[in-house]
Amino acid sequence: MTAAAFTAVFVVALAASLGVRLWLARRQIAHVAAHRDAVPEAFVARIGIAAHRKAADYTVAKQRLAMLHAVADAILLLAMTLGGGLAAIVAWTETLPVGPLWRDIAMFAVAGVVFAAVSLPFTWYHTFRIEERFGFNRMTLSLWLTDLAKGFAVAVALGLPLLLLVLWLMRTAGPSWWLWAWGAWMVFQLLILVLYPTLIAPLFNKFTPMGESPARERVESLLARCGFRSAGLFVMDGSKRSGHGNAYFTGFGKAKRIVFFDTLLLRLAPEEVEAVLAHELGHYKLKHVAKRVLWSALLSLAILALLAWLAGAPWFYAGLGIPPALVPVAEARPGVALELFLLALPVFTFMLEPLSAQYSRRHEFEADAFATQHASAGALTLALVKLYEDNAATLTPDPLHSAFYDSHPPAATRIAHIATLAGGPPLPLAA
Ligand SMILES: [Zn+2]
Repeated sequence: MTAAAFTAVFVVALAASLGVRLWLARRQIAHVAAHRDAVPEAFVARIGIAAHRKAADYTVAKQRLAMLHAVADAILLLAMTLGGGLAAIVAWTETLPVGPLWRDIAMFAVAGVVFAAVSLPFTWYHTFRIEERFGFNRMTLSLWLTDLAKGFAVAVALGLPLLLLVLWLMRTAGPSWWLWAWGAWMVFQLLILVLYPTLIAPLFNKFTPMGESPARERVESLLARCGFRSAGLFVMDGSKRSGHGNAYFTGFGKAKRIVFFDTLLLRLAPEEVEAVLAHELGHYKLKHVAKRVLWSALLSLAILALLAWLAGAPWFYAGLGIPPALVPVAEARPGVALELFLLALPVFTFMLEPLSAQYSRRHEFEADAFATQHASAGALTLALVKLYEDNAATLTPDPLHSAFYDSHPPAATRIAHIATLAGGPPLPLAA
């Protein structure tokens, strides 16, 4: 491969992924707008026209922002690679009076600031314009800034040691450095699993043990029926930031915690909370979580092997805008290879997104089946309809957009599937 050929491959892949992104977003906007004035028949008994229109407008607003963000990201990526942005940063770090390992760290820091500066206005707009307009935002600017500072501190505290270790391995561990780096990555992931519920999440939210309530009784009897032991049931003050509700597991082994957003408990009846948790239990019992972990381990191994190969190929650097004079021997600045790789990889993996989405949707169907065996199918349906309404999730997504991205099946398909499982009427939506 020559540098020019690789540049061409990169530009074509970038143009294709941006084109597909924008095309799908436009389809989604058109489809949702076309169905804005009629609630799908299956939901008429439960969702009013005002809520349906709100979901349509919310979806369109988010899509428009996503389109702008995609264009800004593509321009920035071109500027940083072929436009010489990263090359300029690398040239600057060459003048620093520190060792090569710290030059790489300085390069990551500056590039990180550049990328953050471009993406922050979009996150700000999403929270304080879109979420605000639709009544979901509960954050103040000062909480947003505090979150940002804490997130940065956590990223440095956890990310910097990992980055240093990987760069050090790339330099010193020989041709099989990527195997060692993979081992380090696996240990790091495990560490996050342990640290997240106990140290990281409490930095951002308050977790209180779930008090005695009808919902708690139902949840405990469900856990007993399914033979599931956990290290506790917690309620998280999700309402501090947003009106969206959720429930999830954290930790692993015996340290598993079950976390409910306070917003979810306020909104759902005890029987519905039980059904939602039964669905989450399904993910766990059917080994979806374990399968995901295994997939991501295999994928990261393949990705690191690819990086090891590319880091030794001069055309990889030159093809992405780093002049050969700047990185004469590829191995002299492994950080440059890593940064280029992290920048370019998503352009190529974007087209794999439908596969991952399809895999995830299959798990959703399976978890729903588990839930209907251990809790009420009707309650699950009612809970889902409430969550769709509360999150202003569209009931009428564009089929192609949904097939490409959605980790969950479209509302109507999912609810029809639950009804089939329960052997009840197609859509038991009436009270
Ligand atoms: Zn699920």
